[in-house]
Amino acid sequence: MKSELGRAGMSVSDFDIVHVPEIRTPDGIAFGNSPHTYDGFPMKKPRGRPLIEISDIGLRDLDEAVATIHHEIYHHRHFELTRKSGNVWGGSEEAAEEHGQRMLETFRRRVG
Ligand SMILES: [Zn+2]
Repeated sequence: MKSELGRAGMSVSDFDIVHVPEIRTPDGIAFGNSPHTYDGFPMKKPRGRPLIEISDIGLRDLDEAVATIHHEIYHHRHFELTRKSGNVWGGSEEAAEEHGQRMLETFRRRVG
C-alpha cells in the first residue's frame, strides 16, 4: 500500500505507519490514530518519524487505507500548525475526513 502511494506520487515516507489491529477511542473503534503529546508533539516510532496507527478496519481495502492515512496526516499537520498558538489541536474530524477523501480521489485518478 505504501508503494502504491509512492507510485502515485503521494509518498508517505515522512511518517511511521504501524498496524494496530484494534484502536479504541472514547467514540468507539477507530480506523486510525495520530497520537500526540499534550503539547501537540507527535509520538515518534519506530523510525523516529511521526506515528500513524492504522487498524484492521482501516486496512480492510486499499481505498480505506489511503483515506485513513491521509485523514491522520491532516491531524499531524494541524497539530504542527497550531502547536505554538496556545490552542493546540488536530483539527476537526470533518476537515480531516474531507482531506482524506480528497486525497483518495487524487490517488484513484493517478493510479487509474
Ligand atoms: Zn480523525
